[in-house]
Amino acid sequence: MFDSEKIWTSTQLPTLPGVAVRLIELSRNPETDINDIVNLIKTDPAICAKILKSTNSSFFGFSSPVTSINRAVPLLGTTVVTSLALSFSLAGDSIKSGPLQPFYNSYWKQSIIHAVACEIIGAKCSRGLECEFFLAGMLMDIGRLAMLKAIPRDYFPALLEAASQKRELHETEMEFLGLDHAHVSFKLIKSWNFPDAMMKGVSFQHASEEVLLNELDAKKDTMAAAMVLSNAVGDYFLSSVREQALSRVRFVAKSFFNMDEIAVDKYLESMEERIEQAGNLFSIDMSDYEDPADLMVQANQQLLELTMKSQLETQKISTQQKKTEAEKVELETQNQELQIKATRDPLTGIYNRAFFDDAVAQSIHEACDRCIPFGVIFADIDKFKLLNDTYGHQFGDEVLKKVAALIARNLRPKDVLARYGGEEFVILISTPTEKSIQKIAERIRASLEAGVFYNETTPITVTASFGAAVTLPGRIDNNYAEQVVQQADEAMYESKKNGRNQVHVRSLFSDSDRKLSKAINQGKMSRWLVNKEVMDIPSISRSLLQVTPDKRALGKMAIELDLIQPDQLEEILDNQKVSKLRFGEIAIQLGYLTQNELIQLLAWQAEPPERLIHAIAQCGYFPIEQGRLLLGEFIDTTLLKRACMFV
Ligand code: GH3
Ligand code: MG
Ligand code: MG
Repeated sequence: MFDSEKIWTSTQLPTLPGVAVRLIELSRNPETDINDIVNLIKTDPAICAKILKSTNSSFFGFSSPVTSINRAVPLLGTTVVTSLALSFSLAGDSIKSGPLQPFYNSYWKQSIIHAVACEIIGAKCSRGLECEFFLAGMLMDIGRLAMLKAIPRDYFPALLEAASQKRELHETEMEFLGLDHAHVSFKLIKSWNFPDAMMKGVSFQHASEEVLLNELDAKKDTMAAAMVLSNAVGDYFLSSVREQALSRVRFVAKSFFNMDEIAVDKYLESMEERIEQAGNLFSIDMSDYEDPADLMVQANQQLLELTMKSQLETQKISTQQKKTEAEKVELETQNQELQIKATRDPLTGIYNRAFFDDAVAQSIHEACDRCIPFGVIFADIDKFKLLNDTYGHQFGDEVLKKVAALIARNLRPKDVLARYGGEEFVILISTPTEKSIQKIAERIRASLEAGVFYNETTPITVTASFGAAVTLPGRIDNNYAEQVVQQADEAMYESKKNGRNQVHVRSLFSDSDRKLSKAINQGKMSRWLVNKEVMDIPSISRSLLQVTPDKRALGKMAIELDLIQPDQLEEILDNQKVSKLRFGEIAIQLGYLTQNELIQLLAWQAEPPERLIHAIAQCGYFPIEQGRLLLGEFIDTTLLKRACMFV
């Protein structure tokens, strides 16, 4: 287990220079004379120069040049000068190379975005305090910088997991380290004696919507709410979980700043120019928001470097007589790194074939048990050999990396993209339909065709041929997954034969599969709400993003609903071991469940209605009380009248 003392005892923690600390003290004292501030600033030539430079930058937009600090300080005001001096002191902590460099970059970019997002809200609701809001945003994630500096080795796997798996950083931090950057930011900011409002914003930045509504007051906690909003805005611009981030931005903006979706769109648009100005001010290149897929590729290449380096270090260590505690930690880290490496393709950073095969095997089991469709897309770059022969192997490698990133950009977090071999990619599509898999493949094909690849200055078009297969697995055969992949591969060859750059889909659904799938969808509460015209499709789809399936096995649910008895469950399971048929199929054959009961159980499992009404309430479409009434009404239409007893 990771020992958090390692952070607090590190000599690498970010510190504030003496001038900044004195400035905070002076700015709190109402008796302070502006000349005291001027004189203090003058003792630090570096801060002095930066403040003068920023006074004259487009960030403040004064019309005539300001050439002395004596004029600049009164012009900007004490708060602004203090905030600027603090922000500058921290922005010095950067790094230019090595495996952690992309994470330092993304930290700074995100901090600039937090600062600007906070500042704009400050300008709206706390006029005159914009600069304090700017500083609050800037400091909010200081814990990330502290961890990057103090515990780089321990931190790296958490950073990598978040970047490569499109997961939220605070989650992977908790998983790998048992604490997150909000916690570290909080302790640091507290030790620097910043105001409570700022600490509140830091500690609530990842809080659930329910906690936010209960704990933050829209009138009193403006700064904290602005920080929570900025955190979501940062994720919206930079992280790979964009969709969730946008819905959080909308939620916080609506709940605390009374902004509707149009106002949110305007707010996000208004940030662009300011981000650039702020980036210039802190010498941080904001011209490209880091693409998560690129970050992943970079990070994986650097992981290889790091692993090789630690192998060398380990060799040296083994010649030593005693193994110190530090060496043990080193080996553990290395093991973790190797494990990550074993599942990745080193060139493109996406998963390798071994990982894909495992994911397919697992997913087909689940699909079979829960009657969820299962789909695979196969993609093969067209005339890739010719590209290699014409422009060289290195260019070919660049194309492979970019194609991987382009495909990744078109997928949802649950889909699994892997490099199958040379110029072949394969994608496991989560819960596809016959139509949706066609659409996804077509979207990827089109975005590849539209993407421009450059060999030096020559633009080159790259296309690929696609094949997809979609099925409702009927039995758990060992080689069933292979058969589906093979069908997708064969469909891809049809695309090749037919002239390349196109999509062919094979549906392996039988008529009864199709009927069953349709019936399950129709048994879902979301469908019922749409049919009843209580909600429209876009709103229900947005709410469904937050709904996870019920993880309990079908048999367990059926027992809790009193639909089958424990001894009947045993019999079904014994039967399943021999026949490997679906649970439901056997239950019906044995006469323990009716077709209708099975369909409603499956619909319930895929989309638990209780979770759905909570999600709808969280998205703000209607209050939970109304949801409960509708749920009662919905349950009355089903056979599972007692089902409302469980979530
Ligand atoms: P088709 O449209 O029929 O798919 O033609 P193709 O040229 O793409 O297919 P073919 O299978 O003939 O050639 C694939 C080429 O991919 C041959 C191989 O040298 C190249 N290749 C495989 N792996 C890599 C790699 O990692 N980097 C580079 N640059 N080339 C690779
Ligand atoms: Mg090929
Ligand atoms: Mg090819």
